Amino acid sequence: MENEKNAKGGRAAMSGRARLWLKGGFLAAALAMAFFAGREFWELRHYKETVVSAPGLTEVKMLSDYLGSLKGTWMDTPIFVYDSGVPGGSALYMANVHPYEPATSLSAYIMMENIKVSKGKIFVIPQGNRSGSTTGMLGNAYPKFFHVKTDFGEKQYRIGDRGTNPLDQWPDPFTYVNYPSKQNLAYQDIRNMNRTYPGRKDGTLTERASFAIMELIRREKIDISIDAHEASLMYPVVSTYVAHERSFELAMMAAMTLSAETFDMKCESSPKGLRGLSHREWGDYSDTLAVLMETPEPFIDRVVGPMTEELFTEGKDEFLATAAKHGLTYHPYKIEFGSPLWYRCGRHLSGAAAAITWMGQFFPEKEIIAEWPGYKDLEAHDCGYFLHDPAKADGKLVFKI
Ligand SMILES: [Zn+2]
Repeated sequence: MENEKNAKGGRAAMSGRARLWLKGGFLAAALAMAFFAGREFWELRHYKETVVSAPGLTEVKMLSDYLGSLKGTWMDTPIFVYDSGVPGGSALYMANVHPYEPATSLSAYIMMENIKVSKGKIFVIPQGNRSGSTTGMLGNAYPKFFHVKTDFGEKQYRIGDRGTNPLDQWPDPFTYVNYPSKQNLAYQDIRNMNRTYPGRKDGTLTERASFAIMELIRREKIDISIDAHEASLMYPVVSTYVAHERSFELAMMAAMTLSAETFDMKCESSPKGLRGLSHREWGDYSDTLAVLMETPEPFIDRVVGPMTEELFTEGKDEFLATAAKHGLTYHPYKIEFGSPLWYRCGRHLSGAAAAITWMGQFFPEKEIIAEWPGYKDLEAHDCGYFLHDPAKADGKLVFKI
């Protein structure tokens, strides 16, 4: 009996030790997973994109120059100014307001790396919602980065989220109420910079950034403001200019010219009842001519298969092709072509140029003469051809964003 008791006690002691080891093992595994998962988040949060500006750069401002409280926050973002010194109009090209649409920021970089302005001035904001570009879409498994081939190696860029990073603005309310219209919008739109215009100076981080953009447009007296986006192909506004009523005619002329000469571009009027959007509030709360542009980005369509880097850069997806065959897309889609990066960047670069050119036709005193690569250049050479090697560039023109 005595021996049996001891034996049981021994077994109990051994299983206690085993449990301890097991718990320790689980804890170590959990910590290892937390480390690797955390490292993924950290990498995207802290990775900086490199751009080599063209020599015509005259000034670099920050968004916080227009609202001081943005200084030191993740919403502060650089604004690159190319002033010809010759009187004329002024234009703003803004990209990555929705950072899961990063062909827009790549188009801004291609513009900045090659721009020549000989009349008027151009402001470029390549990272409209910089905070949102530092996190991926939560709950969606997709790559953190995409790569562009160049002669000097691959360049890496971030693929972000639609809205501001929750690390920078949290929690979301049950319903988001746009200021000052009081329109009720979806809760997550409180972090959507293209729903928070005209913004407010003491509001949430996203509202403050929107307010600062309005201040930039008002203080710099920007004649035309172009907001670059990408859309899913099952969204009716894909491949379209959306224009405020004061800019509708110039956008319509630009769409007609592009459709006749290069690629199909539609034009729609900004709805008056839908508040918080750039094409509505920029035009209502300043004198600027507000235009938004959309390219086709299959990567953000709901029906697509695996969200790989290749899907992002080439845009080829069999499920979307099936949807297109059934007439469910608003952009003609063929899987053999997809919707490659050069096509989307080229559309935006030529789309911005056409809108600016037509502003000069309607308002000769606002004429801007500027050059950058367009659709046909990108069709011939692809994107990487127009990027410059930071290692060989003048350090004063190399920026990390
Ligand atoms: Zn967008």
